[in-house]
Amino acid sequence: MTDSSLPAARTLQALKAATPLLWTRPDSAEASSEDAWTLEHAKEAAARFERFAPLLETLFPELVPSRGRIESPLLRAGAMQAALHWPPGMGELWIKADHDLSVAGSIKARGGIHEVLEFAESLALREGVLRPGQDYRVLAEPPARACFARHQVAVGSTGNLGLAIGVIASALGFRASVHMSADAKEWKKARLRARGVTVVEHAGDYEKAVAAGRALLRDDPNGYFVDDERSPSLFLGYAAAALHLRDQLRDAGIVVDASHPLFVYLPCGVGGAPGGIAFGLKEIFGPDVHCFFAEPTQSPCFLVRMMSDAGQLPDAPDSPSVYDVGLDNLTEADGLAVPRASELAAAVMATRLDGVYTVADDRMFADLARLHDSEGLRIEPSAAAGFSGPGQLFASAAGQAYLQSRKLAPFMSHATHLAWTTGGRFVPPEEFDRFLSRGKSSAADN
Ligand SMILES: *Cc1c(COP(=O)(O)O)cnc(C)c1O
Repeated sequence: MTDSSLPAARTLQALKAATPLLWTRPDSAEASSEDAWTLEHAKEAAARFERFAPLLETLFPELVPSRGRIESPLLRAGAMQAALHWPPGMGELWIKADHDLSVAGSIKARGGIHEVLEFAESLALREGVLRPGQDYRVLAEPPARACFARHQVAVGSTGNLGLAIGVIASALGFRASVHMSADAKEWKKARLRARGVTVVEHAGDYEKAVAAGRALLRDDPNGYFVDDERSPSLFLGYAAAALHLRDQLRDAGIVVDASHPLFVYLPCGVGGAPGGIAFGLKEIFGPDVHCFFAEPTQSPCFLVRMMSDAGQLPDAPDSPSVYDVGLDNLTEADGLAVPRASELAAAVMATRLDGVYTVADDRMFADLARLHDSEGLRIEPSAAAGFSGPGQLFASAAGQAYLQSRKLAPFMSHATHLAWTTGGRFVPPEEFDRFLSRGKSSAADN
């Protein structure tokens, strides 16, 4: 028995009881072969977005003001910080407002759109409808459209990834089909159907929807399946966000160094989005950035995977799911309702992730309402998972131990805490009003 065995046992108990907890990664993890990636790969993804910007501006009128860039603001959230009743001397709360990303309305605009653009680019070059260095608006002309129309893009999704892939694929002229899990919201399906995307509904969970989509495309030589569970292109599309954030932090006058730590709280489903972003941020800021993933108490698939890899889940199978620890994967945070972590994200995060915490649904709704009332922002429940992170860090034994072991206590008054709000822009008003009233009734106890 080591000294750390007692906290690990307590964490396991809380995990199984679906009680909110903070887990921090032990230092023992070993680097995997995935570590061949560098920031250069994220820069390539950012450069691809740049090449496509003129075309995206042509395809989506909403992107005219940004000249084809899909980006979100960095916002100071002083009123939200006050509403959360932080203890004094803990630094400042900021928001990376991906809930407001155009085209897809969620963080999936980064990874999902990047992967479809990469596929379109390589296909167009191969088929000769695009020459290297040419203006990409040629892809909106009949020869390229005809080429794309011969191909099908498909994906399995709990909702938001399907929205992103379906919208960009159909805008480029691909046939698009989206396999939705049972937890996908009706309005997301309706939005896709209105754009001519084929929506296939599945009775099972996210994994089942992915498996069904993958199987259907296997025999289609002109089919391309976006595989959220192991796609490097998705991952690097997310990683590109770190480069933009670096510029935004600099422009906002926010210093990140050993005496000005940056804490980032990232809602996590399969782990691709938070993993890609954390990867990019670690490449840029090294040990001065602290990345924590946020998961629903009933769907903590990344936590289960990380604990298992750390030897803290006795008897767990190789790639464990939340069902293996007796949880049910039922949550209103549909963007995070995933039973098993992405293999790729788990491998890359093995040596980079700082911790994972879990959040009860009621707390997400309460924070959604708090954010609305304090800052006037409209987010979906998944996107609220970031806001309980700082409290976990300040108040839990695991959080205190983390700050102590890294000698961060003296610098906390200069800390920046960044909650990544991951979705919400296209939530219909009636749906948002229901979130809000649930949030106000749970705010009393949260
Ligand atoms: C997909 C999603 C996430 C998490 O992304 P993963 O790559 O699945 O980890 C977080 N929030 C929202 C709103 C999402 O749609």
